[in-house]
Amino acid sequence: MKCEIIAIGSELLTPYRQDTNSLYLTERLNELGVSVAFKTIVGDRRKDLTNAICSALGRADIIITMGGLGPTEDDLTREAWADALGIALKRDGDIVGQLYARAAARRWQLTENNLKQADKLAGAEVLDNPRGTAPGQWLDTVFATHRKLGILLPGPPNEIKPMFDEQCVPRLREILPPKFIATRTLKAAMIGESHADARIAPIYTRFTDVETTILAHLGDIQLTLISSKPTMEEAEARVNELASLIEEELEDHVYSSSTRAESLEQIVLYYLGMRGATLSVAESCTGGLLSERLTSISGSSRSFVGGAIVYSNELKTEFAGVPEELIDEKGAVSREVAAALAEGIRRRCRSTYGVGVTGIAGPGGGTEEKPVGLVYIAISDGVQTEVVEKNFAGDRERIRFYASQQALDMVRRKLM
Ligand code: AMP
Ligand code: MG
Repeated sequence: MKCEIIAIGSELLTPYRQDTNSLYLTERLNELGVSVAFKTIVGDRRKDLTNAICSALGRADIIITMGGLGPTEDDLTREAWADALGIALKRDGDIVGQLYARAAARRWQLTENNLKQADKLAGAEVLDNPRGTAPGQWLDTVFATHRKLGILLPGPPNEIKPMFDEQCVPRLREILPPKFIATRTLKAAMIGESHADARIAPIYTRFTDVETTILAHLGDIQLTLISSKPTMEEAEARVNELASLIEEELEDHVYSSSTRAESLEQIVLYYLGMRGATLSVAESCTGGLLSERLTSISGSSRSFVGGAIVYSNELKTEFAGVPEELIDEKGAVSREVAAALAEGIRRRCRSTYGVGVTGIAGPGGGTEEKPVGLVYIAISDGVQTEVVEKNFAGDRERIRFYASQQALDMVRRKLM
């Protein structure tokens, strides 16, 4: 079953308002095994609305409109549905009665335009709206010999959500075949999206019954695998099978593969806790970002002891014990200084591991020899110090984030 969601309202075409209702509905629909194939946003013009509904009728089985059911001039959803289907719109006595009762209870004066909300499409069922005046409508009909479900819902989020959950979901369940949905999320760090996809596409494209989506964000890839089957066992078996193959292919880039989609910082803290180990950091170019990410996780104090932002050369020496001569000789952005930062902060904070980050975040400050994006990240366990040199692309914000991501990933790899 293909579904199209149409968000109605000229305000949704301005820079100031977003269609958020469809996100909510999509989640519910997916749980029922219905995939959303199209989303349309259309302004409050009758012709445009009718066109949008006509297109939807031509390509989807379930068409949901949201909004435009109010009493004002620009609320034209009912009229557009009638135009698109070529059916009548009739004032419904029961709804008129309810509108009057609701107004009386609140000592409101009903104006003529309010009665428009009682106009019902021929053959539609009314969806009550206890939280607002405009009722929704449910139309199970035939269009060009195909069965179509038309669902008219109000726009206000506090009205549409309960109306959908309480009145549409049970109706859909009756119509749709039973579906069970299993989901797995795999997360991988520090591997490019195209690189990862080139490796795993040959695998997931074989699983035509599992929907695989890739979300990439600054050194982080999230793969979501969704399978819907007549039983939960079948659905789970398919996502698990695919997840294992992808994990095998991406090897140690994968840091999380549960249903919870943990962040990299959560995983790092989890492993530190498991090993009874502690971590400290000396941050230059990340300016505290690494500490911020770690401390944003509740319970981080058990494993993350702290550290220092050592932006100036003086503080690199004072707080992390980096020899002045080393900075003079190699420069603050160097392999040697990164190592000294990691070793120094580890000693100073008496932690199991120490991390040092130094680099050129730009946009200024780069040279031919040390360009913007050059970052050294080091991790020390007191015996061994490992340093990685990276040339990150992007603006200041991206470079700083990549550096923090690389640092977290190095801690993770050390612990695994
Ligand atoms: P309407 O149903 O057109 O009277 O919309 C009433 C209110 O709901 C307006 O404030 C809209 O901005 C809001 N609204 C309508 N559609 C959506 C949507 N798709 N997502 C979020 N808010 C919406
Ligand atoms: Mg509107």
